[in-house]
Amino acid sequence: MIIPKSDNPNLAQAILEAKRALFIGAHPDDIEFYCGGLVYNLALAGVDVSFLVATRGGKGRNGRAGERLEKLRSIHQMSAACILGRVNVKLCDYPDKLLAQSIVPLADDIQSHIESIDPDFIFCWDPDFIYNPHPDHQAAADACRIAAEGARAQVIYYGTQRPDIHISLNYDAYLAKIKSLRAHRTETPWYYWLIVGRRLRRKLAQDGAAIQCKYAEVFR
Ligand SMILES: [Zn+2]
Repeated sequence: MIIPKSDNPNLAQAILEAKRALFIGAHPDDIEFYCGGLVYNLALAGVDVSFLVATRGGKGRNGRAGERLEKLRSIHQMSAACILGRVNVKLCDYPDKLLAQSIVPLADDIQSHIESIDPDFIFCWDPDFIYNPHPDHQAAADACRIAAEGARAQVIYYGTQRPDIHISLNYDAYLAKIKSLRAHRTETPWYYWLIVGRRLRRKLAQDGAAIQCKYAEVFR
């Protein structure tokens, strides 16, 4: 197994050698945006990776609700996860853009999922220094904090403004991340990707430069 370069090599190695890892997202594509490269590396290393995604993103980018969009985004989430490797995906049906109203039941769902899969590491939005402010991201982070209290697993935050762990992405991991994001076709159509893709590459390169690598993802 190749351990990616990191400023916390012991933790990076422990994550890569974990038996199970659980990633919690608010919307389809959250996990791919911030952790897609890591998920690819974990799946490749034989870690049992699970996603719990709180909503099906039925309101989309322009706020237009729709059952058809929910179905599409659910399919896109499954395809994106497949691109990253063998990943178990649980999609919940909490209402998109209204997750703050469901923090307690979502925390219960996350807690039962933690109890059933017994992960070594849990990855979720940073509740204190959120990088991409959105009420659903904050709600998912708060629910996870409640659910993970007392859990055996170590909680690691993604989508953070105060990263203290950088984990490098080799070209395969980078490519898998980009392909998985492109699988979310309603969220990242080509014209939108022109802006978002460039911004993402710049961010990955900035984070990579911190550990003298081309690209890196960051955590706290
Ligand atoms: Zn999101």
